Amino acid sequence: MDTAVNTVTGPVSPDALGRTLMHEHVFVEYGTALRDCRPLGAAHEQILATCLGVAARIKACGVATVVDPTTTDLGRNVPLLKHVSEKSGLNIVCCTGIYSTSTYQALRLRLGGADAVADLFIRELSEGIGDSGVRAGIIKLVTGHEIDEDDHELLCACARASVATGAPIITHTEGMLGPDQQRILHEQGVPPEKIIVGHSCISTSFGYHRQIVAAGSYIGFDRFGMEGGMPDEVRAASLKKLIDAGFLDRLIVSHDSVWYWVNGPKIGSGPYKNWKPTNFFERVIPMLQYDGVSEAQIEAMLTGNPRRYFS
Ligand SMILES: [Zn+2]
Repeated sequence: MDTAVNTVTGPVSPDALGRTLMHEHVFVEYGTALRDCRPLGAAHEQILATCLGVAARIKACGVATVVDPTTTDLGRNVPLLKHVSEKSGLNIVCCTGIYSTSTYQALRLRLGGADAVADLFIRELSEGIGDSGVRAGIIKLVTGHEIDEDDHELLCACARASVATGAPIITHTEGMLGPDQQRILHEQGVPPEKIIVGHSCISTSFGYHRQIVAAGSYIGFDRFGMEGGMPDEVRAASLKKLIDAGFLDRLIVSHDSVWYWVNGPKIGSGPYKNWKPTNFFERVIPMLQYDGVSEAQIEAMLTGNPRRYFS
């Protein structure tokens, strides 16, 4: 168990990650469950060019690393991620894990049980994804609007993989189930500081936010720019409250952007005009600064916290 972070181009020291966006998707394609790393054929060059354009823009904002929690059932495409990383110089951390309960059920059936699913996650973290030789650096998991038996089983399988490899976990939440995720993972041996409770900014409840960080996990304000029903001003104000309450060292910021989405919306246009991975730098930092957040505090969220999370 070493502390190096697996990126798609090899291990990197947490100290070398630099500014890190902890939840962005380079490429998404629904309906690809269990059909990992699909060759993109003639479209590959155009997709690569689009993703490299985005990579260049976030590099200009000082970003050196992106964590991409795109699972097999969201179209995880390791060869593409590797090309984007090699050609842009951006570190990319890819994931193992699952995005939907139905994929978990299918995988469990195919592999022969929950333990075999955990073994697959462990293999992807320690040996590599398929025959790509690329090791995942993080475990992604999902729960729905309630944590049913299968969700619980998936949490336990992810916990087993985390304990076995030391890999951290990033979660997808619906509603306000972060504390339940934390409790179950912790019962299975995962230290709270190895967990990011993702999408916590879908809630405006300070009590909910406080409960997550007080339990020792990181909280994902990872949907800046996704403004349907939730303006960034509200997210920024919630973030400021947590800073004022002394929880700066638990805050993670990102956009959950999708740089190339097959049959999905195009980022940076129409209702998605602010949903792009430069948004935090262009719009949100000024909001925070106007509210009295210092440059050092902003840097802590972008650089110090990701480094500590991976250490
Ligand atoms: Zn996401």
